[in-house]
Amino acid sequence: MRLLRSQDPEVWSAIEQEGRRQRDRLVMIASENYVSPAVLQAVQSPLGDTAARGYPGRREHAGCQFADAIESLACRRARQLFGAEHVNVQPHSGAQANLAVYLAAVQPGDVVLGLDLSNGGHLTHGMQLNISGKTYHFFHYGVRPDNHRIDLDQVAALARQHRPKLIIAGASAYPREIPHPRFAEIARDCGAKLWVDMAHYAGLVAGGVHHNPAPIADYVSTSTHKTLRGPRGGMILCKAHYAEQIDEAVFPGVQGSPLMHVIAGKAVCLAEAMQPAFRQYAQQVVDNAKQLADVLLSGGLSLVSGGTDNHLILVDVSPLGISGQQAETILDRCGITANKNVIPYDRRPRTDPSGIRFGTPALTSRGMGPSQMQQIGRWIVSLLRSPDDQNLARRIGGEVAELCQAFPVPSDC
Ligand SMILES: *Cc1c(COP(=O)(O)O)cnc(C)c1O
Repeated sequence: MRLLRSQDPEVWSAIEQEGRRQRDRLVMIASENYVSPAVLQAVQSPLGDTAARGYPGRREHAGCQFADAIESLACRRARQLFGAEHVNVQPHSGAQANLAVYLAAVQPGDVVLGLDLSNGGHLTHGMQLNISGKTYHFFHYGVRPDNHRIDLDQVAALARQHRPKLIIAGASAYPREIPHPRFAEIARDCGAKLWVDMAHYAGLVAGGVHHNPAPIADYVSTSTHKTLRGPRGGMILCKAHYAEQIDEAVFPGVQGSPLMHVIAGKAVCLAEAMQPAFRQYAQQVVDNAKQLADVLLSGGLSLVSGGTDNHLILVDVSPLGISGQQAETILDRCGITANKNVIPYDRRPRTDPSGIRFGTPALTSRGMGPSQMQQIGRWIVSLLRSPDDQNLARRIGGEVAELCQAFPVPSDC
C-alpha cells in the first residue's frame, strides 16, 4: 500500500481506516465475513483487467485462455461442492443472480410466491421498488405469529389459490433452517418451479450443516460473500436442462463482461469450502449463534422464534423500551456492530423497526468460540438493559477493544 499512500493519500487513508474498523470492532452484521488472504490475492490479481465477454471456449475477445481456465475451474468446483448439474459464476452480486433467474424462469406479469419482506424476505423477492416487484405479480407468505416459523400451510394455500409459476424459498432475516423439501412438495403439487435463494446460508449448506437444496430445486441462487466467505459476488446453480437459459439470462440478459478477478476469488473460496476445516467453520458459526442466543435468552431478551438454527439471531428490543435504531447506536458506541432490523408483526415503521439482527460468521472467521460468545452476549444484555449508563459503556468499550486485539482478522494472520 506504500505506492497508494504516496500517490493518493485520500483513498489510502479511508482504506486504512476501514481496515482498522474491521479489526478493532466486533463485526456482527449477519451478511458480512472476512475472506481469506488467498481469496484477497486472487481478487487483486491482473484478471481484473481481462475483458472476457461470453463463456469459456466462446468468448468475444482474444486472449481469454487463462480466464477460461479460471472460470471453468470455479464452475467445476461449485458443481462438485453443491452436487449441482450446472453452475454460472458470472453474476456480479446476489441481486444480479436473482435478476437472471427471473429472466430465465418467468415472463413479466407471471405469478411468483415469496417470503414477505417484513417477515425476513429479501428486497429482490418482490419489493415494490425493486424490479422484481415492478415486473412480476407477487404474492407473499409469512411466518406464523405464534412461533415465527414459515407458515407452510399458508404457502400451500397461496400456491393452490394463485397457481404461481415460481416459488421462492430463502430469506435474509430468518433465524431457522428453511424446509427445502416441503417447499419442493408444494411446488410440485401446484406445478410451479422451485427457486431457493440461499444467499445467507450457502456456507452452512457447503459445510454440511444445513440441507442442500441443489438436488431438489430447479434453481438455486446465492451471494458468495456471506457465510460462504468468498469475494462479493453471486452464483446460480440449476438443473442441466435450464443451463442454456440461465447462461443466456446472465449474459447477455442482465450483464456484459464478467469480473474475472472476482471469479478467480470465487474459485479459491469454493476450494476452501471443500476442505474439512470449512465444515468445522460452518458448524462453529451455528454453535456460536446458539451459544449467543442462550446468553441473550437468559438475560431476558426476546428472540424472534425463540432462538436460532443458523448464523443469525433477531432480537425484539421493544420490551426493553428502546427501538432497533437505539439498540444499534448503543452497541456501536462500544464497538459492537450489528444492524437494526424489522421483526415479524413489527408495530413500528419499517424505517425505524423494533429489532436488531446479530450474526456470527465474521466473529467465527476470527476464531472466536463459545466462551467469547458468552462474553459478548453478556455485554449486549448489559448495554441494552442500561442504555444510559455511560460508565458501563466505557468499561465494555475497553473490553471489546481487548477482545478484538486477541483475535486478529484473517488478513493479519
Ligand atoms: C444478500 C441477499 C441477496 C443479494 O445479495 P447482494 O450480493 O447483496 O446483491 C439476495 N437474496 C438474499 C436472500 C440475500 O440475503
